Amino acid sequence: MLDGEYEDDNVFARILKQIDPCIKIYEDEDALAFLDIYPQARGHTLVIPKNTRSRNLLDVSQDLLGPLVLAVQRVAKAVVVAMESDGFELQQLNGTAAGQTVFHLHFHIIPRMNGIPLIPEL
Ligand code: AMP
Repeated sequence: MLDGEYEDDNVFARILKQIDPCIKIYEDEDALAFLDIYPQARGHTLVIPKNTRSRNLLDVSQDLLGPLVLAVQRVAKAVVVAMESDGFELQQLNGTAAGQTVFHLHFHIIPRMNGIPLIPEL
């Protein structure tokens, strides 16, 4: 669903509250980045905003989106260097129709290597 109430017990909210664990890659005052638990490629990283109850790209304020996208760029640069990847995919899914499964706004950074397909999703 694109619409709906933000649920405070979603898994990314639980990670932000340090109830659930994560393998942290980066953190600043606006964003947290950690490894995806079911990676589509080695180094698959998620970047999430810390200070908003946003389900998707449409319900986040412009004030928060700016620093978040800058964090995405910073993390993407680091992931590319760390993984020595040839490229990367930026995925950002909105709504169940698009395949979104966790309803806290997030960006996927997926390293890509020449000639190597993604690991199929479960
Ligand atoms: P999306 O389909 O865009 O909503 O992506 C949600 C992503 O969150 C999926 O790639 C999941 O593998 C990932 N995920 C779910 N639970 C966790 C978790 N506890 N830690 C890290 N990644 C998770």
